[in-house]
Amino acid sequence: MILFKKSGDLGKWVETQQKKGETIGFVPTMGALHAGHLSLVDRSKKENDHTVCSIFINPTQFNDPRDFEKYPVTFEKDITLLLTSGASVLFLPSVKEIYPQGEKSFKNYELGYLDEILEGKYRPGHFQGVCMVVEKLLDIVHPDKLYLGQKDYQQCLVLVKLVSQLQLSPLPEVIVCPTLRENDGLAMSSRNARLKPIERMKAPSIFKALTFIKVNLHPGPMEGLKEQAGKFLENEGFRVDYIEIADMDDLKSITVWDGKQKAVALVAAFLGEIRLIDNLILGRSHE
Ligand code: AMP
Repeated sequence: MILFKKSGDLGKWVETQQKKGETIGFVPTMGALHAGHLSLVDRSKKENDHTVCSIFINPTQFNDPRDFEKYPVTFEKDITLLLTSGASVLFLPSVKEIYPQGEKSFKNYELGYLDEILEGKYRPGHFQGVCMVVEKLLDIVHPDKLYLGQKDYQQCLVLVKLVSQLQLSPLPEVIVCPTLRENDGLAMSSRNARLKPIERMKAPSIFKALTFIKVNLHPGPMEGLKEQAGKFLENEGFRVDYIEIADMDDLKSITVWDGKQKAVALVAAFLGEIRLIDNLILGRSHE
């Protein structure tokens, strides 16, 4: 595995590979790697000649400065994991390398409705920061395929939209990979490491709430399904930001389900200081 810290050096390496006709898969991360991240690397390795993984804790996507300060940093462990994962390249840039002109954005990404609902509503500016960093990273890595986790469902839709607005060659294909979970159903997340033992025991209730919605969703009016799932989480000690049942493609809220519309249930909730998000595709049996 080659470690690059400078965009120019990585850019030249990518150019050399692409001149040989070889393909690049790209897995952007914020580090504190776990099996979920590695599953993206694994998928990319199967579908590309080379896999570039980046670790960059992007300051511009944190709406809460305390969350940024406390974000886990485990570079040494991450490098060891990546060495065994078979990634070809780790890109580990500094903040200055990504934002040489400073972190203030003068660009407004047109994300429409997606920037106003759910994560967009509860984390103002978050998706603007995500787009800012991903645009820069794509400009450096020029991947053929971009690998994202369904765990961050709304982010996947935002980045599909971003990619469609960029003038990139090649235009990367966005591949959304399934959410990896712990045995008790908790979606793997870098933030899980910050849960206190008692909170960690309660955390799988998010998946239970999503499963409750999936099992009880029947054609017709929702009849308080979200509210029941929300009450369950509150009784378990969560502070719920949102719990929503929405169209899979545009995340518009669904109140009456026709039995065919592709739907997803999404949750964001705090356990103590830690905000967890998760989602589950509805109306299918394989999840
Ligand atoms: P992060 O480091 O949290 O920014 O995540 C980097 C990438 O890994 C994003 O595309 C995430 O959606 C994805 N990811 C995070 N957690 C999981 C998981 N449990 N399963 C699959 N992919 C994940």
